[in-house]
Amino acid sequence: MQFVPWQNVADWHCKACGYCCKLYSVVLGFPEWLNIAKSFGIETTVSGLDRFYIKRTSDGSCGFLCNKTNTYFCGLQGIKPEACKIWPFKVLSEPKYGEPNQAAFDYMGNRLYVYADTMCSGLRYGTPTWDFRYTTIKEFTELALGVRQVQYKTTRAVGAGQNQWGRQLRFP
Ligand code: SF4
Ligand code: SF4
Repeated sequence: MQFVPWQNVADWHCKACGYCCKLYSVVLGFPEWLNIAKSFGIETTVSGLDRFYIKRTSDGSCGFLCNKTNTYFCGLQGIKPEACKIWPFKVLSEPKYGEPNQAAFDYMGNRLYVYADTMCSGLRYGTPTWDFRYTTIKEFTELALGVRQVQYKTTRAVGAGQNQWGRQLRFP
């Protein structure tokens, strides 16, 4: 994983490539695990030593990843885990990945440090656009701080019918 400060990013839009959902195991908080287990069955999750995860399929991807003509969607839109909502950004209280001035983001009087994971193909590098600076990064920050749950700028635009695809889960 490699991270760049958010001020090196011009804009971000999810391309629905599904790469992130094939790459990482999704860690679930206990309430998230409970919600998913109740809604879809405990067999859609796995437990580690001290954590719960979404179960991955035989090809390594998240079992809730849905594919329609090479466009990938999340089957958990309504209860998407926080780790997925915030991807590909990290909102931190310390400048863990360097370049503190470029990573600094002030929110409600608090200095935070925001970085983007370069594995995401939806990043466009350059000087941040007004919209990215004042709406997208703000929304990622609010999701990370738990002051917002609903996604608007931080997710792929959803077309009619997506919910149907979202129910074509891939668990055995
Ligand atoms: S968040 Fe990035 S890696 Fe994930 S599906 Fe969207 S464009 Fe692809
Ligand atoms: S829960 Fe959704 S967003 Fe998260 S890895 Fe699975 S398919 Fe992707």
